[in-house]
Amino acid sequence: MTVSQSPVWHPFTQHGLHEAIPQVERAEGALLHCTSGTTLIDGISSWWVITHGHCDPRIVDAMQAQAAKLDQVIFAGYTHEPAEQVARGLIRLTDTTLPSSDPLAHVFFSDSGSTAVEVGLKMALGYWHNIGAARYKIIVMEYSYHGDTIGAMSVGARGVFNRAYAPLLFDVETIPFPEARGQNTLDALEALCRAPDKPAALIVEPLILGAGGMLVYGADILREIAEICRAHDVLFIADEVMTGWGRTGTLFACEQAGITPDILCTAKGLTGGSIPLAATLATARIFAAHCSDDRAAMFFHSSSFTANPIACAAAAANIAIWQGEDVRGRIAALSAHMGERIARLAAHTALENPRILGAIAAIDLKVGSSPGYLSEVAPTLRAFFLARGLLLRPLGNSIYVMPPYCTTPGQIDAIFNAISEAADQFGG
Ligand code: PLP
Repeated sequence: MTVSQSPVWHPFTQHGLHEAIPQVERAEGALLHCTSGTTLIDGISSWWVITHGHCDPRIVDAMQAQAAKLDQVIFAGYTHEPAEQVARGLIRLTDTTLPSSDPLAHVFFSDSGSTAVEVGLKMALGYWHNIGAARYKIIVMEYSYHGDTIGAMSVGARGVFNRAYAPLLFDVETIPFPEARGQNTLDALEALCRAPDKPAALIVEPLILGAGGMLVYGADILREIAEICRAHDVLFIADEVMTGWGRTGTLFACEQAGITPDILCTAKGLTGGSIPLAATLATARIFAAHCSDDRAAMFFHSSSFTANPIACAAAAANIAIWQGEDVRGRIAALSAHMGERIARLAAHTALENPRILGAIAAIDLKVGSSPGYLSEVAPTLRAFFLARGLLLRPLGNSIYVMPPYCTTPGQIDAIFNAISEAADQFGG
């Protein structure tokens, strides 16, 4: 069947452009094998999810064993060992990597990054409602992205992604992206926190804004943001959906700022990227506000597949890998190599703004007109990279690399050589 005959409607895809849609049949490590016989290096971890590598045998074995034992069970009022194991593992991992004065103590499962964010927002609003001091104002950072459901879009930057739905999105307060030492951001946050209409929470992507263009800001600024929130009793929600599981060099990005959020959202790499699962972690007081003999105060959120056992088995296997292996060392080596290659690219006259954070490297292609997500150059670059055996998907004119941690030095070199060639050919 050719793609034009397919009834499939793809995400973030303009079918009217008739771009090639490769059909992938198999994957291992950093490689995707297509039915056409082409092999691609997965330079973006299949949308930022794959961590250790595709089809990691330990994760695959865990899913297979679980599938044969317990495939699915309702999670309202029932539990199972894989979910218990993941919850204990997440609490142990955050307890050992984040400061423990007010530790994350409870884990609520859902299915995607967007739902992890929705759950986090609802937990924050539920907290204020249930303690009898209702607050509704949410603070967000300029250029943020938190997902594509209505609530997650509401706390994300307004723009082409969500223009069609704008009247349905709820209002938020926006602080600017940090400039230099971030005083502009901190001042704006302080002013909002001091306003008579007290904010319920701030939600932020820690250290790097992903879909906003891989925009990096400092750990000191993140720490100060968290401190201002704490000082004003505004709940701090860390959206670690992209940054979690080693992408920024540490297990969670909050570790680099030495902060523990009130609520932490994780998804993508939670299962090593193998199968959908998300979790929203909360401190004891958020849970306590929903815990009483009043049934009307329970946390009203669920989805059919909450804490699916097969997905939880994959997450448990991923947590065991983090506990038993030097994943951080692997990321550090990958980061050093990418850092060296991005530094070389920085000398190219058609490229600017090189940046690297852990296992994420990005650089912008200078284009004559219309930079940004809808930059004309994006589809051209995608096709150029595809023709060279690479899955790269620039955000407009921002070219980024976010490979699985098993990617070999030779594969990294192939990616960066192609970016250099692309700059020669398409730089403005
Ligand atoms: N939050 C952040 C920071 C993300 O980068 C994403 C997705 O890229 C999401 C939330 C939404 O995650 P999902 O696509 O799994 O719904």
